[in-house]
Amino acid sequence: MISYGEFHQMPARMEKAKEMGLRKYLGVPRHISIYLDNGAFYFLRAGGQGERKAYQEFVEKGRPDWYPMAFDVIPTPQMSNKKQRACYDATMEANHAYRHDGYVPVIHICRLLEEYVRAVLQSPKLAAKERIALGGIVPNLLRSPKALSYETVLENLLHVREMFSDKDLHVFGIGGTATIHLAAILGIDSADSSGWRNRAARGIVQLPGSGDRMIASLGKWRGRIPSKEEWSKLRKCRCPACATSGLRGLRAGGLKGFCNRATHNLSILLDEAVWLDKHLKAETYARNYRRRLDNSTYFPLIIRLLEMKNHRVVQSI
Ligand SMILES: [Zn+2]
Repeated sequence: MISYGEFHQMPARMEKAKEMGLRKYLGVPRHISIYLDNGAFYFLRAGGQGERKAYQEFVEKGRPDWYPMAFDVIPTPQMSNKKQRACYDATMEANHAYRHDGYVPVIHICRLLEEYVRAVLQSPKLAAKERIALGGIVPNLLRSPKALSYETVLENLLHVREMFSDKDLHVFGIGGTATIHLAAILGIDSADSSGWRNRAARGIVQLPGSGDRMIASLGKWRGRIPSKEEWSKLRKCRCPACATSGLRGLRAGGLKGFCNRATHNLSILLDEAVWLDKHLKAETYARNYRRRLDNSTYFPLIIRLLEMKNHRVVQSI
């Protein structure tokens, strides 16, 4: 996943990527799909606004494999009903404006989710799309004020999955070692998060089935340091970064250390995805996830989600 927001900040690189096409510009091998984020989250935080015409041109010339409409307006849980309604109206207007070609419609987890689902299903062109994306989850999972309860968020995710069972569902903002368990159980087709890179920049690495651990002291960031067993786990890691430069490489400063930690973190996530795929397909997940995951914040959520799914299966028989 690459962000239009980042290219928007670097006009010279944007031009080069348009000239060469994103695949060639970034050196992405053919078997890896390029997902483009429209930068809505970046614009929400930076306060600027993207231009549809420039975005369209970037899509047409850069030729990503997956690209959302422009631009959704992300609601936050603290917003009044009126403000959430304004976000909904702007986002649905953009969905309709981009109902053509391969643009992916975007809806948000918020108090108006049900209306989003109905509006998409009632529009023949939007309902016929093969893909849909769901955003707005991050502020809720971060427990910001007035956030929806975890249970409501999970109910919403399950509901969206069921209502759009024929579509490839992408969820923005999921991508931690534990949260990808939630995504996989829910049957979400793809998800993205820049968490693995942000953590790497702060000296943090991910461990299989565990939370984050701070291994390099960089500036003001603080975090939990690894236990003796975890250090030994890290020492044995065979990811592309650890295999070549070991623990010393992971703990290094500067760009090199960042690149090593980012590679390690992404590799852990990809391994987790392989593990999940294997156990969900073999229906052995419920028997094994307790051993795989340690005491994560999301652990109770996974248990709850498995219960909710079983309950729905029983109801539908
Ligand atoms: Zn590693």
